[in-house]
Amino acid sequence: MNICSIRGAITIEENTKENIIINTEILLNQIIEKNNINKENIINIIFSTTKDITKAYPAIATRNIGITDCAIMCLQEMYVEQSLPMCIRVMLTVNLDVKKQNIKHIYLKDAKKLRPDLTLENKGFAVAIDGPAGSGKSTVSKIISKELNFVYVDTGAMFRAITLYCLNNNIDCNNKQQVNKNIDNINISLKFENGIQQIYLNNENVTEKIRTQEISKNASVIAQIPIVRERLLNMQRNIANSNNVIMDGRDIGTNVLPNANVKIYLDADIDERAKRRCQELSLKNEKFEYDKVRQGIIERDDADKNRKIAPLKKADDAIIINTTNLSIYEVSDCIIKIIKENIK
Ligand code: C5P
Repeated sequence: MNICSIRGAITIEENTKENIIINTEILLNQIIEKNNINKENIINIIFSTTKDITKAYPAIATRNIGITDCAIMCLQEMYVEQSLPMCIRVMLTVNLDVKKQNIKHIYLKDAKKLRPDLTLENKGFAVAIDGPAGSGKSTVSKIISKELNFVYVDTGAMFRAITLYCLNNNIDCNNKQQVNKNIDNINISLKFENGIQQIYLNNENVTEKIRTQEISKNASVIAQIPIVRERLLNMQRNIANSNNVIMDGRDIGTNVLPNANVKIYLDADIDERAKRRCQELSLKNEKFEYDKVRQGIIERDDADKNRKIAPLKKADDAIIINTTNLSIYEVSDCIIKIIKENIK
């Protein structure tokens, strides 16, 4: 037996005695049922309610469902800006015969939005984030995936890894036949360590190696080759089928995941995007000239937007966010809000 903490939350419809008690009972019953808890093994329960709930009946609710001898405490939360209204939270301390990772925390009604990762038991909730180079896709995707505990899939890294293989093996990225001939020698795999994507090229971790300016330039050439896109498309879809994902790229909303639950198209003025890229290069102590970086981005966007297959394009149902004058946190918060609104 281990001592476990199990959390849960539910929202109520009305600030009335009946509604509060019934919802508290529903929440406790679900926690007990889903975790197979023997009521005698509950050590204590802490309840808290948002400030807009002016009454609470923890003792009545627990007694009604047959919990008669455990310590109970009930607190009213301080007002938190933008917090979910009319919410009751609980934390149970229980003696339980399960491993920590198998504990089921329970979020019900609108409170599902508090922990989408726990709520979406049937994996496959997909957020597609597309946009041109330097629009902020990967930075915000990392923040959002961490916050929501989703898997972040950086599809650009896959094209970059194939490009690295070609450059290392003197394969001309412009030569479709040569790339086709070698495609079976290229094995790309992804591992997610603490939610962070690590990319392997033929079993070598190349996560850092693919971040050069030479690879950026050649990746948009490689990305035009049908067999390359075909191979990666299957991988990308398979990951999205078995995980809740934030997937960023150029064609995610239009082509890879046309049924994604949320589609975002990020954009920003070219000068702002060039400035961001220069800041990244400067942080890595790499030499750069602003004009060349700016020109490189324009050329890459041009290639990505005008290629025949799966060009960079806003999906009809994508929400556009122009990030030019927004901080990464403003953009992330805005997307998190959109995602939560789409979790049913
Ligand atoms: O996003 P990142 O700069 O790492 O992408 C590198 C290149 O890979 C892009 O310029 C684009 O040509 C290609 N790419 C793509 N489709 C995606 C992701 C990236 O064509 N879904």
